[in-house]
Amino acid sequence: MLELTFDRDARSIYVYFTDITEGDDADERELPGVWLLDAADQIVGLRLELAGSGPRLWELAGAHEHVQLDGDTLTITFATTPVAAEEELPYGAIVDIDGQGRALGLETPATIEFAIAERLAAIQPLLIEWDADDDDEAADDEDDDEAAVPPVDPDQADSWDVDQAVLEQAKLAEPPTLIDPNATVRAGFVALVGKPNVGKSTLLNTLLGQKVSIVSPKPQTTRVPVRGILNGPAAQIVFVDTPGIHEPRHKLGNFMVEVARRAIPDADVLVFMVDVTTPPTRLDREIAQLVTAAHKPTLLVLNKVDATRAADVHLPQYRELGAWDDEVAISARDGLGMETLIESLVAHLPEGPRLYPEDQLSDMSERELVGELIREKVMLNTAHEIPHSVAVEVEEWEQRGETLYIRANISVERASQKGIVIGAGGAMLRKIGAAARYEIERALQQHVFLDLWIKVRENWRQKPSELRWLGYDVKFFRG
Ligand code: GDP
Ligand code: MG
Repeated sequence: MLELTFDRDARSIYVYFTDITEGDDADERELPGVWLLDAADQIVGLRLELAGSGPRLWELAGAHEHVQLDGDTLTITFATTPVAAEEELPYGAIVDIDGQGRALGLETPATIEFAIAERLAAIQPLLIEWDADDDDEAADDEDDDEAAVPPVDPDQADSWDVDQAVLEQAKLAEPPTLIDPNATVRAGFVALVGKPNVGKSTLLNTLLGQKVSIVSPKPQTTRVPVRGILNGPAAQIVFVDTPGIHEPRHKLGNFMVEVARRAIPDADVLVFMVDVTTPPTRLDREIAQLVTAAHKPTLLVLNKVDATRAADVHLPQYRELGAWDDEVAISARDGLGMETLIESLVAHLPEGPRLYPEDQLSDMSERELVGELIREKVMLNTAHEIPHSVAVEVEEWEQRGETLYIRANISVERASQKGIVIGAGGAMLRKIGAAARYEIERALQQHVFLDLWIKVRENWRQKPSELRWLGYDVKFFRG
């Protein structure tokens, strides 16, 4: 079975030639190639330059009717419409290879400007067909939210076996507005707490309509609480995006738990966010206890209602974890249930003056934003090899005529990781730099020269002084 999926967050199409389970992939390789586009600029296929790779590599791929091996190229055709144009893969195709040297499948990430999500019309039939297969397992699959998820049509929800009350709550897909000019202003801090990967960053991005914190399929990418501010005529909600509370594995982990714990006393309302597609784990219970013990207004937010056909299955178990002042079902990814959520948040906020000027979206400084954008690009491009051991610090920031010169250090833990980030002949670093620069220029609205450096800082995660060096406030650090 050839499996074709699309991951919106990774802006990537995945093509798998065989069923794989985690750990099957032993190696990885990057091959240059192009997307094949039809006259409407829709993706219809892929062509890779094989660069001398032997027949062994394509043993599994060759078995599929969609795949054609021809001398030095491999062409995968998803749709029958004629090819009218080609678009170079900005990051190449990243090929997953098994222990026997066979390609299991590949990934083709796109840049933001390519707008890949709008180019899937021609291959949609294939995406849908394979999604239907996946759906059968979705309910049992704990890791389902990390897999590539094709776009879901919210109208299809009716045919699913979803609790009607949950659906009612979730049916509003419009961007949220807060219109109640006669009400007293309500303003305060809202802490989103929940274990990694429940969708906290996604929710913030959806609510605020702009990237203020970093979304990644990997947990723990949000390191510093980032406040996103939602302003309405009668309310101001200041969100604190806490890092996921998780089992500490090393000192940086401890530090992050502390940051999350600390966010709770500062907050006026606590949102306990869970992934409704999976049953509660011990970690959910621990966080629920922390939240409940704070004696503040608490909302239970059940996320990912889009991803399950039986959203109510785990609901009673989550309900039992605490005494919740309210309960809202949402899809952070698809923007479902946002208005209900905001109404509930506002209702639980204290009355008072606005805490920030109305035009302020995030209190993340431009430097921090730039650092996070670079970090995100490193993580997106280096996938498994550089998990959470990378930190970015902006060292120099200088306006030079029309151009803003930014020098940043990317710190990794080991020399081997440094090699990965630099890539063959510096290719990876150039790619990271180009992708980061594009987004930085867009965010800052100006021409940027980005000077990236890589440093190895042995075991920096274990040293409090090094944490301080990286700009963390070690006051919360207990180690
Ligand atoms: P965080 O660790 O809690 O901040 O979680 P993220 O916001 O980084 O999301 C983790 C993963 O869950 C990402 O792959 C998201 O795309 C995915 N995700 C978040 N919200 C939803 C949702 O409403 N539905 C689905 N299906 N996936 C979601
Ligand atoms: Mg996050």
